[in-house]
Amino acid sequence: MLHIETPLLRSTPLSTPDRTVWLKLENTQPSGSFKMRGMGRAVEKAVERGAERIVSSSGGNAGLAVACASRALGVACTIVVPSRTPVAMREKIAAEGVEVLVHGTIWDDAHEKACSLSGTLIHPFDHPDVWQGHATLIDEVAPVLKPDHVVLSVGGGGLMIGVLMGMARHGWGDVPLTTIETHGADSFAQAVEAGQLVTLPGIDSIALTLGARRVADEALMWAMRHDIRPLRVTDRAAVEACSRFLDDHRMLVEPACGAALAPLYAGELMGDVLVIVCGGASATREQLEGWEQAVDA
Ligand SMILES: *Cc1c(COP(=O)(O)O)cnc(C)c1O
Repeated sequence: MLHIETPLLRSTPLSTPDRTVWLKLENTQPSGSFKMRGMGRAVEKAVERGAERIVSSSGGNAGLAVACASRALGVACTIVVPSRTPVAMREKIAAEGVEVLVHGTIWDDAHEKACSLSGTLIHPFDHPDVWQGHATLIDEVAPVLKPDHVVLSVGGGGLMIGVLMGMARHGWGDVPLTTIETHGADSFAQAVEAGQLVTLPGIDSIALTLGARRVADEALMWAMRHDIRPLRVTDRAAVEACSRFLDDHRMLVEPACGAALAPLYAGELMGDVLVIVCGGASATREQLEGWEQAVDA
C-alpha cells in the first residue's frame, strides 16, 4: 500500500452546539494530498499490467502522487505540468527522481502533451483505478462514523466519484454530498445545472487544483443517482479558510482544500459533517501570503 490510513479528527474550533465537524486529514498523506490513494492504485495496476514507463499530466498534486508511487515501485516516469504550476511544485516532483516537462499554461494543454508521449498514461481523475483508490478513504471512516453530510471539493471529479463509490458500498446512499468549487472553476456545478457536461472556456480561480475545464462523465452520472448539492465559493473565502484552518489546526492547506472548509467557516451545515481535508503539496507560508494578496487586490 502506497498511501497511509489518515487520522479522523473531531474539530473543536469548527464544531458548534448544532454541528460536529469531522476532518479526514488527507493532507497527511505522503504526497501531501488524497491523490496518493488513487494515483498510487493506478500506478500499481499499470505496473501489474506490465508498464515500463508511466506518463501523467498534472497541475501538481496528482503529478506528485504519481511520481511518489513510481519511485516506490521502481518504474520510470514522466510528468507533464502546465507553466502555471509553481516552480517549487515542479521541483518537488523532480525530487522524486522523475522527468518533469512543462507544456502550455493550464492542465488541458499539459494533458494533450502527455497523451502524445510513449508510456502508460495515468489520467489524474478520469479512471476507475483512481476512483477505487480514492474510495478507500471512506472504508477508513465507515467503522467509526456515519455522518449526516459529506463535504469535499471538486476539480475533475475523481475524488467525488471515489468517495461516492465508498459511500455506496458502506450503505451511505442516503447521506447528502456537498461539492465545493470556486467561481471560475465550477465545471461540475455548471454541468449539473445544464444537465450535461460543460467545457469552461478557461479557468479563472486561484484554486488551480480545481481547474479542470470539464469534469469526468461519471461525475455527472452520479449527480442523477445521489443527493449531490453543488456549491460555489469565492477565491477569497477559500483563502480565508486556509488562514483560519492554519490558526485553528496548525495545518497549512491550499485554496482547493480551503474551498471545502469555507462553507463550514460560513456557518453552514448541521449535524455530523465529514469534511475531506484534501490537502495540497504546494502550500507554503509565502504562497499563502501571495494568495491573500491576490484576493485582496
Ligand atoms: C486533485 C485535487 C482536488 C480535486 O480533485 P478531483 O479528483 O480532480 O476532483 C482537490 N483538492 C486537491 C488538494 C487536489 O489535489
